[in-house]
Amino acid sequence: MPTNPTPLDGLDARRFFSEAGQGLTYDDLILLPGHIDFPVDAVQLHTRVSRNITLRAPIVSSPMDTVTESTMAIRLALLGGIGVIHYNNTIEEQVAELRRVKRFENGFITDPVCLAPENTIADVDRIKERHGFSSIPITEDGRLGSRLVGLVTNRDIDLEPDRSRPLREVMTRDLLWARKGVSLEEANEILRRSKKGKLPIVDSEGRLVALVTRTDLLKNREFPDATKEKHTKRLKVGAAVSTREHDRERIDALVEAGVNLIVIDAAQGDSRYQIETIRYIKERHPEVDVMGGNVVTRRQAQHLIEAGVDALRVGMGPGSICITQETMAVGRAQATAVYHTATYAAQHDVPVVADGGVRSIGHLVKALAVGGACAMLGSMLAGTEEAPGEYFYENGVRVKRYRGMASLEAMERGGGKRYFADEQRIRVAQGVSGTVVDKGSVLDYVPYVLQGLRHALQDLGCRDLATLHARLHDGELRFERRSPAAQIEGNVHGLFSYEPPPQPGRRRPRR
Ligand code: GDP
Ligand code: 5GP
Repeated sequence: MPTNPTPLDGLDARRFFSEAGQGLTYDDLILLPGHIDFPVDAVQLHTRVSRNITLRAPIVSSPMDTVTESTMAIRLALLGGIGVIHYNNTIEEQVAELRRVKRFENGFITDPVCLAPENTIADVDRIKERHGFSSIPITEDGRLGSRLVGLVTNRDIDLEPDRSRPLREVMTRDLLWARKGVSLEEANEILRRSKKGKLPIVDSEGRLVALVTRTDLLKNREFPDATKEKHTKRLKVGAAVSTREHDRERIDALVEAGVNLIVIDAAQGDSRYQIETIRYIKERHPEVDVMGGNVVTRRQAQHLIEAGVDALRVGMGPGSICITQETMAVGRAQATAVYHTATYAAQHDVPVVADGGVRSIGHLVKALAVGGACAMLGSMLAGTEEAPGEYFYENGVRVKRYRGMASLEAMERGGGKRYFADEQRIRVAQGVSGTVVDKGSVLDYVPYVLQGLRHALQDLGCRDLATLHARLHDGELRFERRSPAAQIEGNVHGLFSYEPPPQPGRRRPRR
């Protein structure tokens, strides 16, 4: 490293973003490299999503009904991020999704499909057709949490011609089971030694609480970065609510079910309704962190910080499915929005989540480099196995639906709450609905994205996100504008044909 003060290239963030009247997007900027004196594996991605919730991966999944329900929230938390469960459903449905996350224990099926002794073999056939498995714990009343009385597996029923026979006549009663509290390692060892396929887990009264399967033995992996509660070891999870008076009931139910982060979902967050909602949560449930938003200006951020938020969600119009800026003419280019709000919020120790418009690893890097503590992802996570919805084929390509919460389609299911459109007869769409390609599992895709992010931080000469943010604010991190020609230069050009880079996570042959 030269010790004499060579002039730094590019501009510091303050000057870069102060060009009068210009809003910049991620594509408008490029970061200049720093000095590397550490290996890529030394890069740490620790951050906070809110004042009191730390993450080991700066990724938050968006509360959209085509992105986050329990499966996404579980997998993302295992990988060190956090999911925010959408609220385009009833309170009971949202709470059920939340409970699934809170109940989750790695390797244990905590909501196994059960049947009662009176059910028939035909009921097992239906489950097999629908879910693909046929081993069913039999409990007294057919529900989880009731006394375990038997187990039905394929071998009990495959050769039986009479499918109307009740399960009580065919089930195995002589069961191998383990007591609640058994570790995954011990459960695996029991399965290995006994050569059995299923291990029901029961509480001290013999009531079924979970199931461990042999098929999953090899799939079980450790998740050292998981976002967990310190004492209970339960995964952390967020849930979205609206600012409407009647959603207070939703807030109370979510807190009761163990939510860690409440995200107040509003396209324009600087409203009296939101401030009242923040106050309500802070008074009633001071133990839960609150994310307010969405905001894009310092003034909006100030109002919500004064009302007591623990995090801000930033973005108005950059989302891939979003037509707000075109329809409403209100919003802000995302890099500028994140930079100004994050710089302001940093003075109050409030993390900022850059929401929307991130469609590549490079955009994620930029979202963090302009001050985001994390990025909230919609389209990047839509189309994964963990996103709600079924795959189907469109022009020969395997896709899933992805839709804006203010698309007409989602509003018809209740998604307009975010846009104050609930009781309005004429609804103006601020989003579209479409499809995204199959990206495989989040378990493959997110680690790929995070490794890309580590490489980028190494190129910037930053070992961690705290260093990145310190350099953003002290001016050592340098920015340059990308002219339209520079953007062309920075992408593939001049080839007759080429193989596009493998889409991270794009479906690979099953292992
Ligand atoms: P089975 O013997 O026909 O039940 O199927 P396998 O044990 O070979 O595979 C079952 C797979 O489905 C495993 O990967 C389980 O983790 C998964 N699974 C998810 N939910 C359930 C459930 O409620 N019951 C069972 N039996 N398996 C489930
Ligand atoms: P993406 O990651 O797909 O670029 O953006 C996801 C974000 O877009 C969400 O987190 C949310 O803030 C925003 N969003 C979701 N649905 C809509 C919509 O219908 N209209 C608008 N304006 N924004 C949306």
